[in-house]
Amino acid sequence: MGIILETDKITKAYGGFLAVNQVSIHVERGEVYGLIGRNGAGKTTLLKMIANLATPTSGTYSIYDANGQKSPSMRSKIGVLIEDPGVFQNLNAFQNLKAKAIAAGIKNDRYLNDLLAFVGLYGVGKKPVKNFSLGMRQRLGIAIAMVNDPELMLLDEPINGLDPQGIAEVRNLIHRLCVEKHISIIISSHILEELSKVANRYGIIHNGVLMAEATNEELLSRCRPRLFLKTSDNDAASAVLRELGINDFSVVDDHIEVRERAQEGGAISMALAQKGIQTLEMRTEGQSVEDYYFHLTGGASYV
Ligand code: ATP
Repeated sequence: MGIILETDKITKAYGGFLAVNQVSIHVERGEVYGLIGRNGAGKTTLLKMIANLATPTSGTYSIYDANGQKSPSMRSKIGVLIEDPGVFQNLNAFQNLKAKAIAAGIKNDRYLNDLLAFVGLYGVGKKPVKNFSLGMRQRLGIAIAMVNDPELMLLDEPINGLDPQGIAEVRNLIHRLCVEKHISIIISSHILEELSKVANRYGIIHNGVLMAEATNEELLSRCRPRLFLKTSDNDAASAVLRELGINDFSVVDDHIEVRERAQEGGAISMALAQKGIQTLEMRTEGQSVEDYYFHLTGGASYV
């Protein structure tokens, strides 16, 4: 599909403190990009810079049109839900949308009811926003972010504080934004499990630094089981592995990392013994995606 946004070593310093430190992310058109990190990791600051709500200290970001050309005018095609959606508490949902449309210079407001229907708020009528549940507010925030017909949406922790039903509704809405409206989405969260239900690609951010960027498949592949194998002769053992039809392995320092048929340690060890090669150490390694995330970000996910 091609890229829609990339940042190039984008950095934000507050005094001497680097809230975002040389972060380069890549977002493909049509995907849901999950920005995951603990509280204070720098997610909001990064999104604010992309939304033009904060000025980078250094580095840049670029937005691309559907033809793959850098397009500064695409900045007007970004919809933003960062922190509290600035709504008027005494106005109802439609009036709030209309206020946003007027501020954006949009005169034709006939599509605003469609937006309300899309986020499941068409039936709320005259109810002022101050009487909305948190989930309704978030869905209104998403509708407000859609007023300018965006191609890219930035959603900062949209599920934070929601009850399970609210989470499911917002998750479903994000899925529909992507599939039905073809909007690319960057969504931040500190809860990997929730992100994993909507995201195709992840940026893992910690202490302002991008620790890893990977698609769902790449993450799973990084975490899949491997066999750590140390033998009396790793070169000869490599030949035996090939004879067994195992080709996805590499010699790393003093051992072999086998990434294929990692569960066949017993058979491998026996084949090595038949060639007079001793198995000095053998263990299966691997981790869940969550463990991998904890490993990169140093501990618990809920802070
Ligand atoms: P959270 O989910 O808690 O908002 P986050 O990952 O979005 O976390 P940011 O809000 O981007 O993190 O904050 C990153 C760091 O930058 C934090 O240590 C925060 O205190 C600091 N920070 C953010 N804005 C400012 C500011 N205007 N002045 C000084 N420091 C700031």
